[in-house]
Amino acid sequence: MTNQTDFEVIIIGGSYAGLSAAMTLGRALRQVLIIDSGEPCNKQVPHAHNLLTRDGEPPAEIAAKAREQVLSYPTIHLINAKAAAVIKHNGGFLLNTASGEKFSSKKILLATGVVDLMPDITGFAACWGVSAAQCPYCHGYETSNTKIGVLGNGDAGFEFAKLINNWTNDLTLFTNGQSTLTAEQAAKLKAHHITIAEAEIESIEQEGGQIKNFVLKNGSTFPLTTLFARVQFKHSTAIAQDLGCELTEAGLIKTDAFQKTTIQGVFAAGDNSNLIRSLAAAIAAGGTAGGLINHELVNDDF
Ligand SMILES: Cc1cc2nc3c(=O)[nH]c(=O)nc-3n(C[C@H](O)[C@H](O)[C@H](O)COP(=O)(O)OP(=O)(O)OC[C@H]3O[C@@H](n4cnc5c(N)ncnc54)[C@H](O)[C@@H]3O)c2cc1C
Repeated sequence: MTNQTDFEVIIIGGSYAGLSAAMTLGRALRQVLIIDSGEPCNKQVPHAHNLLTRDGEPPAEIAAKAREQVLSYPTIHLINAKAAAVIKHNGGFLLNTASGEKFSSKKILLATGVVDLMPDITGFAACWGVSAAQCPYCHGYETSNTKIGVLGNGDAGFEFAKLINNWTNDLTLFTNGQSTLTAEQAAKLKAHHITIAEAEIESIEQEGGQIKNFVLKNGSTFPLTTLFARVQFKHSTAIAQDLGCELTEAGLIKTDAFQKTTIQGVFAAGDNSNLIRSLAAAIAAGGTAGGLINHELVNDDF
């Protein structure tokens, strides 16, 4: 909590990217407010992997430790709230939270992540992060050489099945309706002993998020341990677009190598601006943004 309303930097999103930026800015003695609504994309994930020194730990514990360390810097403040709107004002920014609080800053960092959109398949949402995931580097090793499925079709499905085949010799590609694979792609998958299941999906039978069976509308049932799927996403807030930040073709916030968006004074870091979705990538981008924001503040003063 804080009574202060004017800051050098406001960070919207207090997860891995936002906290990483805040640590850099705290170490640069900057007055920072982090506003976080407590909805990281990995909130359902029991164990995170592929992060040096924290491999296999619950993501909530990693984030809690990060928050504790960041808040030990006295110039860093955090409120649990949702940023509703940001407007440009006097060379800086004015921010309103959904509960009506108002704050101002010289710079804004959007570390707002993205929201994964669950396909309309019964059981899918419960499994997301537990036994269904999109990243084999995060969740492939633990279920290697078990019965794995890939949900996908056409070129994207082919490429994803090729990748996941690295982790198992018992792979099924679920196209959820008629295959749009080319004859050559289908032949290559078959040559690698990858089953192609074309029937529409009826449901996923699961217990506590652990997939038991993949049930198809033609009555067939596939026991699976893990499903890999690339789901659609949306931004958690329209603040970037409202400020005029350009998006990439993939719909992410466009940044340069220093995490600067196309709007002066506005930076973005983490999943909202990076196709590579991982804790390490988010932490790296946040650290870069923090350093470059400090650099800009230094230059603004001289
Ligand atoms: C199912 C799943 C499993 C994963 N497993 C792994 C893994 O094992 N290893 C790995 O390295 N990576 C994994 N990842 C990827 C990793 O979780 C993300 O790359 C990382 O969380 C991105 O960090 P971020 O800070 O950009 O966004 P997030 O962690 O998603 O956090 C965004 C934060 O911004 C807040 N926010 C958004 N809008 C507002 C607003 N308007 N006002 C205030 N706050 C706001 C949200 O509440 C949230 O706290 C996984 C992802 C998923 C979805």
